Amino acid sequence: MLTKFLDFFGWARANSPWMVHYCSGCCSLEILALMGPRFDWERYGFLPVPSPRQADFIVITGLISRKVLPVLLMTYDQMPKPRYVFAIGSCAFDGGPYYDSTSVVTNVPEILPPDVFVAGCPPTPEAILEGLLEMKKIIREKREARAEKEGTWREILKQELEKNPLLSQQPFFVGG
Ligand code: SF4
Repeated sequence: MLTKFLDFFGWARANSPWMVHYCSGCCSLEILALMGPRFDWERYGFLPVPSPRQADFIVITGLISRKVLPVLLMTYDQMPKPRYVFAIGSCAFDGGPYYDSTSVVTNVPEILPPDVFVAGCPPTPEAILEGLLEMKKIIREKREARAEKEGTWREILKQELEKNPLLSQQPFFVGG
């Protein structure tokens, strides 16, 4: 009985994944396009939520600056497990056009490896939607999140908090 209930819970979760994101790069405009009437992603069950506490996955929308990195990691840290990462845009892979900038993080996939990555600068809404459907599949199959087993985010977050202890006292309200 309990197994059946958990199966049902997993099925419901996979069919309506909640995501937390904040606009860290210009790729986020393509997310807005997905929310609009042309693509209407809510018909696939996707729902943006303003709090990481209820989110199934986090979206990295392109560029991550050094200032934003601790916020990204703290947000991920607050999500319940299993927690997945969805990344879009070449900036989220290697810094993209800002590959030689000193203020941009160029190794995000090493720190927080994405379970799904959609390439492009920016990727099209169609490509992002395809990636999101893949994310649904990953959630349905309850695959192990890559960031949990491969990512260095815990150590990096610890270093960031040691550098700036005030960060841990910030109420981060993301996405809303
Ligand atoms: S990949 Fe291109 S569109 Fe996306 S954040 Fe970077 S510069 Fe902007």
